[in-house]
Amino acid sequence: MRIFNTETKRKEEFVPLEPGKVRMYVCGPTVYNFIHIGNARPMIVFDTVRRYMEYRGYEVNYVSNFTDVDDKIIAKANEEGVSAQEISERYIAECKKDMAGMNVKPATTHPLATQEIDGMIDMIQTLIDKGYAYNVNGTVYFRTRKFKDYGKLSHKNLDDLRAGNRSLLVTGEDQKEDPLDFVLWKPKKEGEPSWPSPWSDGRPGWHIECSVMSKKYLGEQIDIHAGGEDLIFPHHENEIAQSECCNGKIFSKYWMHNAFLNIDNRKMSKSLGNFFTVREISEKYDLQVLRFFMLNAHYRSPLNFSAELMESSKNALERIRNAVANLKYTEEHAQAEAMSEAEQQLAAGVPEYRKKFEEAMDDDFNTADALAAIFELVKFANSNVNESSSRAFAKLLRDEILQLMDVMGLIAEPKEELLDADIEKLIEERQAARKEKNFARADEIRNELLEKGITLLDTREGVKWKRA
Ligand code: AMP
Ligand code: ZN
Repeated sequence: MRIFNTETKRKEEFVPLEPGKVRMYVCGPTVYNFIHIGNARPMIVFDTVRRYMEYRGYEVNYVSNFTDVDDKIIAKANEEGVSAQEISERYIAECKKDMAGMNVKPATTHPLATQEIDGMIDMIQTLIDKGYAYNVNGTVYFRTRKFKDYGKLSHKNLDDLRAGNRSLLVTGEDQKEDPLDFVLWKPKKEGEPSWPSPWSDGRPGWHIECSVMSKKYLGEQIDIHAGGEDLIFPHHENEIAQSECCNGKIFSKYWMHNAFLNIDNRKMSKSLGNFFTVREISEKYDLQVLRFFMLNAHYRSPLNFSAELMESSKNALERIRNAVANLKYTEEHAQAEAMSEAEQQLAAGVPEYRKKFEEAMDDDFNTADALAAIFELVKFANSNVNESSSRAFAKLLRDEILQLMDVMGLIAEPKEELLDADIEKLIEERQAARKEKNFARADEIRNELLEKGITLLDTREGVKWKRA
């Protein structure tokens, strides 16, 4: 498996720190609003990387944070006259709904910055003790020039940066030793959430959050650190500086970055009026269409969002789903059980498609080519399966398509939605089973409903249910 590493600017063979295991950190969103379709790109792309690694047999420890303390969250809280916590909790819950809609698996851990302040204070203290950080009037800065490797990820030269950053000197940050130094801890302003620290009541800088959460949940060294390409500098560069100076070890082996999503060939922005949230898209499309659209491009290429491309993604996904539905129909109605000789010969060619799929994914996760391989398989199924096909042949092809689609996180066989009346009928059946002390059947019904996103609550007033 080869991964393009932003740091070395080339594709490298993936060799994990520990055989069979992958430690992966993906910078998550700042939660002050519904996530937009740009934020959805790293979620979908790196979820697919994770799924492919799992398919390849790795055990993946996947950590993705929520930044739940930030200027934008505070501004939104003030606007609404509620606490910052209320805002972040609300949008974390909404974000998780969107993730579920896009079939993005929950991370192994989703840490929250505000729950990890102690670890941040510890790391900042270590950096001060080692001479990499200093406190001026309650603000702690990182001494950038002291880290000799600074700029290794973004391939920036410190002196060029200095020239570009001169403006910082006149914006009230003249207490810094060097304009390149960045903030690790800042004192609170009136009305802001804050935590006590040895330097001031205040809050952490953004970069230190990820260094600390990554260390706590994955250890001092990780395999893959990922995010959108806007994070390369300064966020990831600063994370490297903090983590490597604190721990004395290389932080991450591979750095992966997705390119940006634009709308109608322009940068997505609120002021241009070309800004979509995932929620808005979900009103018009099944979010699986959005996922398909994202994976139909290489993650390192800029991607342009347009109604036209969404329509063609919708049609393409439908084509696959129709093929799968036809195969299922054949399976259920086939006259012959076992494959004919001719079918056996055809079946011998099926692994070729999987091989193509794997080759594409092994080459820096070329999801567009992987989808093309699935399409070839679909075409093969459409042209070789008919009413006289055997159950075994139809099943082979259906299973193959479903498995490959699942690696992409694409649902080729949508579950049928349960109607309210069906749910209530099952609940009645469960109550009857319990009365007869048939707890196995009662549990079976509960699990069946759970699988379809229905949770049951046994209350004093009887059984209540809700959809996920
Ligand atoms: P933020 O909430 O701005 O920190 O962004 C969360 C994640 O979304 C980061 O990995 C960003 O790089 C990524 N991101 C933000 N906007 C876009 C975009 N238009 N296209 C692709 N990725 C984006
Ligand atoms: Zn981060």
